[in-house]
Amino acid sequence: MRLLLVEDDDMIAETVLGAMRRSGYAIDWAEDGRAAELSLGNGVYDLVLLDLGLPKKDGIDVLNAYRKSGGAAPVIILTARDAVDERIRGLDAGADDYLIKPFDLDELAARVRALLRRRTGQKQPIYAHGELTLDPAAHEVTKSGDVLPLVPREFALLQALIEEPTRVFTKAELEEKLYGWGEEVGSNTIEVHVHSLRRKIGAEQVVTVRGVGYRLKRC
Ligand code: CA
Repeated sequence: MRLLLVEDDDMIAETVLGAMRRSGYAIDWAEDGRAAELSLGNGVYDLVLLDLGLPKKDGIDVLNAYRKSGGAAPVIILTARDAVDERIRGLDAGADDYLIKPFDLDELAARVRALLRRRTGQKQPIYAHGELTLDPAAHEVTKSGDVLPLVPREFALLQALIEEPTRVFTKAELEEKLYGWGEEVGSNTIEVHVHSLRRKIGAEQVVTVRGVGYRLKRC
């Protein structure tokens, strides 16, 4: 999962970036409205956290332009307590949810999970595929009831696959989901993660589609 944080306050940004990375998401940071528009233009994000009071371009304008251009990722607005009008305008402009500053990081994480589920049409909080389950909140994967010790990248890889279990992902798509800006990605990084994930969940669970990429086995 790749998120974008749009926030001009350094302290809030550092806190949110840290919390989201600990939750296993790749997350990029745009510090003003223009940078946000540039970032959103490349279309790789699964969810956007959007402050409204921003330098260079207002958050509402960023959101309006994003929705008009067909941008469909869920957006959570981060606003001040007294800014009721702003929140309403944000929701009307196409935001999916909002949080009032200062917000609780656990609540933010829970709302992110809820919107990501909704985005993929997933009603249950835990994903199930054959013998596998994946619980984003507990960060836990089981196979036939046994908990498997996945490291964060393996977890993120399996989460990407299990959210769209019939889709074949290219390596480039998986890199985009697992890594943020400035993170070094070697040419065989995804192969290495797939290899280690297969060792833990069973080689047959992840199918190589020759010349294209990877998907989960059918079940
Ligand atoms: Ca601000």
